[in-house]
Amino acid sequence: MKLKSLELFGFKSFADRTVFDMDQSMTTVVGPNGCGKSNTIDAVKWVLGEQSARSLRGREMMDVIFNGTDRRPAAGMAEVTLYFDNEDGTLPREETDVAVSRRLYRSGESEYLINGSNCRLKDVRELFMGTGLGPGGYGFMEQGKIDSVLASNPTERRRVFEEAAGISRFRARRHEAELKLDKVGANLLRLADIISELERQERSLKLQAGKARNYKELQGKVRELQAQVALHHFHRNDTLSAGLGAELEEQTAGRQEVVDARDQSRKDADAAESEFRKMSDGLARVRERAAELNAAEAAAKEMVVFQEQHLETLDRQASGRSEEITELSVDVHRTSQDKAEASD
Ligand code: ATP
Ligand code: MG
Repeated sequence: MKLKSLELFGFKSFADRTVFDMDQSMTTVVGPNGCGKSNTIDAVKWVLGEQSARSLRGREMMDVIFNGTDRRPAAGMAEVTLYFDNEDGTLPREETDVAVSRRLYRSGESEYLINGSNCRLKDVRELFMGTGLGPGGYGFMEQGKIDSVLASNPTERRRVFEEAAGISRFRARRHEAELKLDKVGANLLRLADIISELERQERSLKLQAGKARNYKELQGKVRELQAQVALHHFHRNDTLSAGLGAELEEQTAGRQEVVDARDQSRKDADAAESEFRKMSDGLARVRERAAELNAAEAAAKEMVVFQEQHLETLDRQASGRSEEITELSVDVHRTSQDKAEASD
């Protein structure tokens, strides 16, 4: 595995995209104080996953983003990429070229990428474990680091040597496996608890299932009975309905008869009324006629009285005449006698 180049963009003093080609001729970077030499080491530490802002000589992580000058605005993002030649397969990847990047935006978002694909910090750490570039590795030594290694205790020194021997990757994996085992053990315990709890629940569920079955059976019976009752009601109502229908027909017919009778009575009443009116008219006429006849009778009676008086008068006159006639006859006879005598 070889470091091919280091690319910085917006990282600390490297506002412009800057590429360091690490060809075999590069051994040293020199420059005046404050020109940015240590910033390149910071960049390498940062891209490999450094989490401490202090270790990067800042107060907070945002300090790694180029913060502008009098003549240049601040950058919105810092990006560092390490390009490796992986021909010898040191890095556990199939690609022969491996690029590892880290980005940090002013919004606070940050991302890691391996060959352009987003990944986790854990993936980056695992990639370099045992290569000397892992955490605490000897791959790069900042100012004063060699002194601290020399002065360190046996445990810290052992970590450096293990990283150099490529053991740390396996140690980390073993640690991870142990953690996983612990987790699996804890999970197994939990599972045993859950199983015993489930067994308890199973027993109670069996009881409940039995009850549910009984309930279902009874419910079925209830439904059957309800259906029978409904059928019975239906038949009874059907019969009732048929009876009521016939009764209704009868009542309707009866009602029609009553209506007809009422209509007939109305007609009869009308006829009787008109007859009554006619008779009243006739009676009035009869009364008038009777009055006329009474008047005529009275007149006739008067006439009779008058005629009778007249007759009496005439009778009297007739008897007077008859007396006169008798007298005259007597006279005539006398006269005749007289005459006969005279003639004799
Ligand atoms: P020395 O020889 O003294 O160790 P050096 O070459 O290592 O110096 P660095 O410490 O790498 O220098 O760089 C320091 C410079 O980087 C300072 O000028 C500082 O202003 C600049 N710098 C640090 N952080 C930022 C930032 N976020 N934005 C812009 N410039 C920055
Ligand atoms: Mg320096």
